[in-house]
Amino acid sequence: MKIFNTLSRMKEEFVPLEEGKVKMYVCGPTVYNFIHIGNARPMIVFDTVRRYFEYKGYDVNYVSNFTDVDDKIIGKAIEEGVDSEVISRRYIEECKKDMAGMNVKPATTHPLATQEIDGMLEMIKTLITSGHAYKAEDGTVYFRTSSFKEYGKLSHKNLDELQSGFREIKVTGEEGKEDPSDFVLWKPKKEGEPYWESLWCQGRPGWHIECSVMAKKYLGDQIDIHAGGEDLIFPHHENEIAQSEAANGKEFSKYWMHNAFLNIDNKKMSKSLGNFFTVREISEKYDLQVLRFFMLSAHYRSPLNFSAELMEASKNGLERILTGVEKLCDLEKKAQKKSLSQKEEEGIREAGDLIKKFEAAMEDDFNTADGISAVFELVKLSNSTTDENSSKEYVVYLKETIEKLCDVLGIIAERKAEILDQEIEDMIKARGQARKEKNFALADEIRGKLLDMGIVLEDTREGVKWKRVQ
Ligand code: AMP
Ligand code: ZN
Repeated sequence: MKIFNTLSRMKEEFVPLEEGKVKMYVCGPTVYNFIHIGNARPMIVFDTVRRYFEYKGYDVNYVSNFTDVDDKIIGKAIEEGVDSEVISRRYIEECKKDMAGMNVKPATTHPLATQEIDGMLEMIKTLITSGHAYKAEDGTVYFRTSSFKEYGKLSHKNLDELQSGFREIKVTGEEGKEDPSDFVLWKPKKEGEPYWESLWCQGRPGWHIECSVMAKKYLGDQIDIHAGGEDLIFPHHENEIAQSEAANGKEFSKYWMHNAFLNIDNKKMSKSLGNFFTVREISEKYDLQVLRFFMLSAHYRSPLNFSAELMEASKNGLERILTGVEKLCDLEKKAQKKSLSQKEEEGIREAGDLIKKFEAAMEDDFNTADGISAVFELVKLSNSTTDENSSKEYVVYLKETIEKLCDVLGIIAERKAEILDQEIEDMIKARGQARKEKNFALADEIRGKLLDMGIVLEDTREGVKWKRVQ
């Protein structure tokens, strides 16, 4: 299996640190709003990478954080007059709903920055003791980049160039730096901000330290794959490498994977240009499976342009697969148990070749676009070689094969049964009754079932409201 490694800028053969296991860390979103469709790209892409490893029989330990302490969260909390925890908890829940809609599996662990402060204090202390970090007069702790000789190895920047580049940028409040390329590990609190006690000052962590600490705690000093969007290569991932390798004395991650950006109508997504969509907004117009299918229709390292035309094309492509599988489901009910015909045996051989084609595409740095082509060819083969006279064995084989490959892509190949408003109302009533009887386990189970069907509940003062997110 070949993976393009940002570190070497080459496709490399994947060799796990431990046989049969993959330790993977994916930088997650900062939770101060609904996630946008740009954030959805790494979620979908790396969930598909995980799914392929699992399909190949690997045991994947997948860790993805939520950054729940940050200037933007604090800003939003001040705006609404609530604690920043109220904001972060709210948008973590909303993000999880969007992930479910996009069929992104929950991570093995979703750590929160605010719950990992002790580990961060510990790592910062280690870095100070070994001379890799220092405290400035105002209590800020900085990482000393000149102490880490390999600084710049991921982004392929040279420390001298970096230092002269940074010299131009003066950041207020960071006057205590020894060198402009040094970065913050811990900073003093400001009025009204959440803070923690530390050896240096009451304050909060810089952004980069959380990922080094969480990766160490949940995966160990060395991991197989570290991933995120390409904007994270510098400075975030470069700084993570410096922190982790300086503190642990070992190579941090063997492979670094980065997805290219998602643009809208060929422009960078931005709120001010008005070309900014949240996943929730898209879910009001499309089944989020269409969004997932769209994201996988291009290679993850190619920039992808979001447009109404491309979404329509993805909708039609997905529809072709769903219709093909629907036909097989119908035939399965009618098909007779009889031995395979010669033509069917030939069909099974052809399908076998298409599975190999799918795997070869995925093993060439996760070329999902070619993987999808192989699935289309399977559907075409199925449409042209099955009818009322087909044997049950053949029909079931094709159906299960298409479903298995779709599952690697995170696409649910069976069309969802339409759920009626009345059924939803009845389930909400049953949940209300369970809550009244303090049977919260049952109430949660009903809520979960509704979520699986694409129905989100909201408990309001006026009662329970529901919405289809598809
Ligand atoms: P953030 O919340 O900004 O830290 O972003 C969370 C993840 O989304 C990171 O891996 C980013 O690189 C990624 N990301 C943000 N915007 C885009 C975009 N327009 N296209 C692709 N990935 C993005
Ligand atoms: Zn990170």
